[in-house]
Amino acid sequence: MKLNSLWLVALLLASVVAVAAEQPPYRASDFAAVEKVDTHVHLHGALPTFMLRAAADNFRLLTINVNYSDFPPLSQQRSDALALRLAHPDRVAFAATFDATDSQRTGWATQTERQLDDAFKEGAVAVKVWKDIGMQQRDADGRAVMIDDARFTPILRMLEERGAVLLGHLGEPRNAWLPVAEMTIRSDREYFTTHPQYHMHSHPEWPTYEQQIAARDRMLDAHPKLHFVGVHLASLEWSIERTAEFLQRYPNASVDLAARLSHVQRQASVDRDRVRRFFIDFQDRILYATDIACQGPQEDSACAAEAHETWLSDWRFLSSADRLHSDEFEASFRGLSLPRDVIDKIYNGNARKLFPTAWAKAQ
Ligand SMILES: [Zn+2]
Repeated sequence: MKLNSLWLVALLLASVVAVAAEQPPYRASDFAAVEKVDTHVHLHGALPTFMLRAAADNFRLLTINVNYSDFPPLSQQRSDALALRLAHPDRVAFAATFDATDSQRTGWATQTERQLDDAFKEGAVAVKVWKDIGMQQRDADGRAVMIDDARFTPILRMLEERGAVLLGHLGEPRNAWLPVAEMTIRSDREYFTTHPQYHMHSHPEWPTYEQQIAARDRMLDAHPKLHFVGVHLASLEWSIERTAEFLQRYPNASVDLAARLSHVQRQASVDRDRVRRFFIDFQDRILYATDIACQGPQEDSACAAEAHETWLSDWRFLSSADRLHSDEFEASFRGLSLPRDVIDKIYNGNARKLFPTAWAKAQ
């Protein structure tokens, strides 16, 4: 009798599991109903139309400050992020950053640690380091400053000890090291033509692609407890195999998809099942992100429209099995039709876990 009821429980459990596994993927019409986070945006100034769009599309946002000359000065980015956070505590969180210019100076690390400490007190949920480390900063003796340099150790140790997240944009897409005509994606050809200072193919005086990746990996080897997000697919966007190896080697690392989904789609045009398997295998380690940048009130409406379009087309790729085209490359590809629970993690659960204090509950 006892054995029989155990069997019954086992059978019931098995059928529950089977039903869960058979849950159909989300439909296009589920888009607005599913809670989502875009973990990589750059929001500058008040953006009322964009914020209404984000609310209508059910997106929460992580706006990331970054020491980039195309963006406002860091002090402005800091006050913009604080103002947005204050106006939309349930929708906007922010990541702080620091200026690595002058990092050779005695006292630089102590001063930077103090700045970051203030940023955490103001509510920052992460710290961003950018490709200027590795591709722009040089010491007085001409040596390129790399992220595994000892001068960054106190800062990284501080982040590690407080369990804070480091967002690392280190290196660039591998396309940056190729001649323009050989780049695989249209937007890379455009970006590196209009930003020749980052087109590393023309700058052999800077470290190679593999040297950038190796410096980042040595930094992670030295800080095994650091919570790290390799933004832009950890600059390994051209190969999901390399990205998978990276995630296997660093159990405390995640990757975000910001501005690199077309590289994934290109790989899906060759072997969709392989790409789909990658998303399922690493469903706990991938963060949905776009890299949308809104440069102040004059771009508010355009930015809202662009975000809506990007969010919808990414949703279609990840959730449907539709035949799709991108203006980034020629071949067509099919959507990944990821299971619901995988979509929920990539779009929401993983971000909530990594940034538990980020988005206050709505009043
Ligand atoms: Zn970005």
